[in-house]
Amino acid sequence: MTDPVLRPGSTVGIVGGGQLGRMSAVAAARLGFHAHILTPQADCPAAEVAHSLTVGAYDDDEALRRFADCVDVITFEFENVSAAGLKTLESLKPVRPSGSILAVSQDRIAEKSRLDAMGVAIAPWRSVASPADLAMALEALDYRCILKTTRFGYDGKGQFRVSAREDAAALEADLPYPMVAEGIVDFEREVSVMIARGVHGDVQCFDVTENRHRDGILDISLAPAHIMPELADHARQLAVSIAEGLDMVGLMGVEMFVAADGRLLVNEIAPRPHNSGHWTMNACLVDQFEMHIRAVVGLPLLPPIRHSDAVMKNLIGPQDMALCDTILKTPGQALHLYGKADARPGRKMGHVNMIFPKGALPGPFGLADALGVLAPASLSSK
Ligand code: AMP
Repeated sequence: MTDPVLRPGSTVGIVGGGQLGRMSAVAAARLGFHAHILTPQADCPAAEVAHSLTVGAYDDDEALRRFADCVDVITFEFENVSAAGLKTLESLKPVRPSGSILAVSQDRIAEKSRLDAMGVAIAPWRSVASPADLAMALEALDYRCILKTTRFGYDGKGQFRVSAREDAAALEADLPYPMVAEGIVDFEREVSVMIARGVHGDVQCFDVTENRHRDGILDISLAPAHIMPELADHARQLAVSIAEGLDMVGLMGVEMFVAADGRLLVNEIAPRPHNSGHWTMNACLVDQFEMHIRAVVGLPLLPPIRHSDAVMKNLIGPQDMALCDTILKTPGQALHLYGKADARPGRKMGHVNMIFPKGALPGPFGLADALGVLAPASLSSK
């Protein structure tokens, strides 16, 4: 068996060159590892900070082989590598998290079936492969559901909401089947847990994060979440049981709803660094990207102690980029830009972490004032 622990100077292969790859590459370099990126686009956000690149498509077997040849271990920031591609990578180098976990997270039906099988509470759901399935699912879910594509859905893309019988009639005739229909959860808030699991099965969880969305995209994350300590413990336990149930090695974000009745329902898992964990970059000694790299190369996982409270705001499109000058002038705010040239509407360009002394994160009513120009409209209505 190959030694699961890599020494500094080794090369971590990261599939994907977006911002998560960029921040993982920086963390790898900080620990003395080389980051080698597989990307279809040479001028990607990770390229500027990585040691080296393989430029090629994620489904190009020859490019995957060239990439694997350059690295000692393989991890991901982009999950949608084909089953055949994952098999190729796994035949050549250690892949962490494993291809089977990626396959589960790529496909909502596989993901929900697996969570059901592990006894994890999730929203009621039906798989929908045809108009006949759709009619049955709508009936079963009382015409209150969200239809989601099974694959390639992110940031609320590929989703259709049905809130009443009339909405069903307005659905497009040719929906992008296969889909899942998910009962709408009346949630009080959305939270997430970043969990790392090492090569020896050791686990560490970051503090529970509270997430607010705008137009289906994460807008702000608050750490710690405004929830009771018992619920936070429960959320972390849930993340641990999922990571252990999947025998995951690496880092994973677990998104959850806090339902109106106080129950925690898991929405989805993402076996990679997660947007809702970006606050850790300025509020923890070891952030989610370092934890990711530590887990993947087999280094010890330190407790991810949070030394400050934090609010992370995504900077999306040209409107949010206009805030950068103010952010740069404001004490207590740390700007992270991803090096993307074109600030198209809806594009994640960077984020800002606002840091507060521990225990001083304003409650729901003081938050809008504390964030000033960065306060999203949604805050005042919550
Ligand atoms: P997803 O792509 O599944 O993460 O969904 C994006 C966002 O849509 C979530 O963060 C929620 O705000 C909302 N959402 C998704 N599924 C549900 C659900 N079953 N009930 C209520 N809201 C949902």
